[in-house]
Amino acid sequence: MIRIAIDGPSGAGKSTAAKAAAKRLGIDYIDTGAMYRALGYKMKMNGVEPVEDEKLARLLEDTDIDFRAGDIYLDGEIVNDKIRTPEMSMAASACSALASVRKKLVKLQQAMAGRKSVVMDGRDIGTVVLPDAELKYFITASPEERAMRRFKELKAKGQDVSYDKILSEIIERDHNDTTRDVTPLRQADDAVLLDTTEMTAEEVVNRICTDACKMI
Ligand code: C5P
Repeated sequence: MIRIAIDGPSGAGKSTAAKAAAKRLGIDYIDTGAMYRALGYKMKMNGVEPVEDEKLARLLEDTDIDFRAGDIYLDGEIVNDKIRTPEMSMAASACSALASVRKKLVKLQQAMAGRKSVVMDGRDIGTVVLPDAELKYFITASPEERAMRRFKELKAKGQDVSYDKILSEIIERDHNDTTRDVTPLRQADDAVLLDTTEMTAEEVVNRICTDACKMI
């Protein structure tokens, strides 16, 4: 069994690398950011504000998030595209600062990983969700490079977005993620730092798979 934990700030290429590495290694990929996005989406759809403790507790009790064949299901409905908008990025960042939300999702993520090989990416995987993971990476890149990658990705999907707005949202999300009281984003002491500003996606995947193959 090999569990690979990948953390880092928004848009650093974690998901692309994690998904490709999982495919190459023939193991499951769990995108925990998508889970926070799905919950942020549900809170928005139901008009539940982060300060409404009781309403939020009821919503959390009544929420089911699952992955099947690369799709994310929120209460039985595929929400892949609905959660990939700049608005849902901010909603995810806001709801991820809530202790009750983190408690629920961390428990779900630990259950999903169970006792099988996985690649899991997020912000707290190496530090909280899978502290005993066999391999840990902290993947980062400059904010400008990350904003450009996200801009191209959303443009390619036909979304009408502005680079400057994406950059300012990335900076704001970095600030939220690194300064929140509950589990702020930080590199685990035993994680390998990969700065991908000057690396191709292929190089990142090769590095992870080379390391993993030495352990299998
Ligand atoms: O990775 P992605 O950008 O999709 O994540 C959306 C948001 O969810 C992040 O900005 C972060 O605030 C939050 N998140 C988190 N912990 C994780 C994964 C994501 O707080 N493990």
